[in-house]
Amino acid sequence: MNDRIESRTDPLAVLDAAYVLGALSPEDTSAFEEHLSSCESCARTVQELSRLPELLAMVNDKHVPGQPQDPDRLPALLAKVRSRRWRTIAAMFAAVLAVASYLALVTRRHCCPTPSSALLGVDLGVG
Ligand SMILES: [Zn+2]
Repeated sequence: MNDRIESRTDPLAVLDAAYVLGALSPEDTSAFEEHLSSCESCARTVQELSRLPELLAMVNDKHVPGQPQDPDRLPALLAKVRSRRWRTIAAMFAAVLAVASYLALVTRRHCCPTPSSALLGVDLGVG
């Protein structure tokens, strides 16, 4: 909580991780290092994050979440996804067709007098 308050009042506090990862420009690095000499909070945070580059270096392709474990399975997975997509589209098309057929049937039933009633001059009072 105290660190949060300090980060709001310390505009350079947001640069700590970028500094540790070496992502700052040379000018920003110099400014941040000068700030570190006088800011205990940022110095502590940099100390806490100092192992971050080492930990990130340990990550390899096998540890990346969401990536297929076996690259040979990728074509099969893509085929499965495409198959599901087409089944969904076909189901949606069938549903739209069913609703359209129903509406056409209901509209026709209520819309127009049947030819026989029209010929007889009978008003059914429908529509
Ligand atoms: Zn600071």
